[in-house]
Amino acid sequence: MQEMILCKLGEVVLKGLNRRSFEMKLMSNIRRRVTRFGKFKIYSKQSTIYVEPTEPTCDVSAAVAACKQIFGIISVARALPCEKDKDAILETAKLYLGDAMRAARSFKVESKRADKTFPLGSIQLSQYVGGHLAEAFPDTKVDVHNPELTVFVEIREDAAYVHGPAEPAAGGLPIGMGGNAVSLLSGGIDSPVSSYMMAKRGVKLEMIHFASPPYTSEQAREKVLQLARELTPWCGRLSVFIIPFTEIQEEIRRNCPEDHFTLIMRRFMMRLADMLAKELKCKALVTGECLGQVASQTMDALRVSGDVTDLPVLRPLIGMDKEEIVRIARHIGTFDTSILPYEDCCTVFTPRHPKTKPNVEDVREMEAVLDIEGLCQRAMAERELVKIKF
Ligand code: ATP
Ligand code: MG
Repeated sequence: MQEMILCKLGEVVLKGLNRRSFEMKLMSNIRRRVTRFGKFKIYSKQSTIYVEPTEPTCDVSAAVAACKQIFGIISVARALPCEKDKDAILETAKLYLGDAMRAARSFKVESKRADKTFPLGSIQLSQYVGGHLAEAFPDTKVDVHNPELTVFVEIREDAAYVHGPAEPAAGGLPIGMGGNAVSLLSGGIDSPVSSYMMAKRGVKLEMIHFASPPYTSEQAREKVLQLARELTPWCGRLSVFIIPFTEIQEEIRRNCPEDHFTLIMRRFMMRLADMLAKELKCKALVTGECLGQVASQTMDALRVSGDVTDLPVLRPLIGMDKEEIVRIARHIGTFDTSILPYEDCCTVFTPRHPKTKPNVEDVREMEAVLDIEGLCQRAMAERELVKIKF
């Protein structure tokens, strides 16, 4: 029998009556991700999704790596199935985990018996397999408390499975189960992390980016697309809507008080994101805002920028320290791109003394001189869509 992948479900198993729909979604997400690596049979049984190669050319290692980044899966193990017979299991363990057994100083066998008709109890089976493995690998001793290697044996409906330790995977919920949202993606450290965090809760994202050429460069735009590419292993295929923002920024600069530039600009971003969300039938906006990080992210400023949309604004980083955000950015692989030094539209026309305690009524009045409707319509009409595949 051929080596296969066992994906253990995370929170999905808590979903009661909805559980089947979660599993179906997760299986379709897995299918979409692994088909590139060959023909796999994907099915679920007993809180596990099986990803089984159907031809020898399947790239199992690549499929394992992909599965580790699919939300909804909590751990991934490569396993070798065999006949449900104690000696077949022993021989499989010797062969399949021989190298790991030789490398470890101590080991134990842990058995699970989902098929209750199997003639040995799980403790008896562990003792049988463990005893014979200890004889076959005399340099590796049994240690049931602190083993270097655990050999897992699972007796399931259709076969027995032998595997070593499972590797941790992405956790979270399958993408598509948490609704959809428009995520505001800048070139910074924060917004890729906030996108990742909402995707982890099962949210399907549409990305929006505001660009202000010629104040922002081609490299700045490319950097954002690169970030989107780095996010796809986690978030799935992404559409990035690039919205021209130059006219809006110039109008604000010409007509509004300098200390309110950033705030008014942020309100335009929220308006445009709101328009896109409604067009795409998304139910929320996502930003990388974090309380107190900059002047435009004080409590009062958040109130002012959130005032222009009636959609929930999800801010998963709101209570996090920069260090924690950076740790996640490194983990998901976006950090090195984020710190490339290209300007963002937020950094052009930055006020010298930004207002930290703005007031909604005042800001509405300052904006009243602008043709808000016309500016937004034109920006939306001239947007560009870039589709990012895996
Ligand atoms: P980041 O590191 O994500 O750029 P930041 O700390 O620089 O965040 P701001 O520049 O105030 O903070 O932006 C706050 C949030 O607004 C960002 O996290 C992002 O969600 C959104 N945003 C900012 N600039 C843009 C942009 N050019 N395009 C799209 N969204 C943006
Ligand atoms: Mg920024």
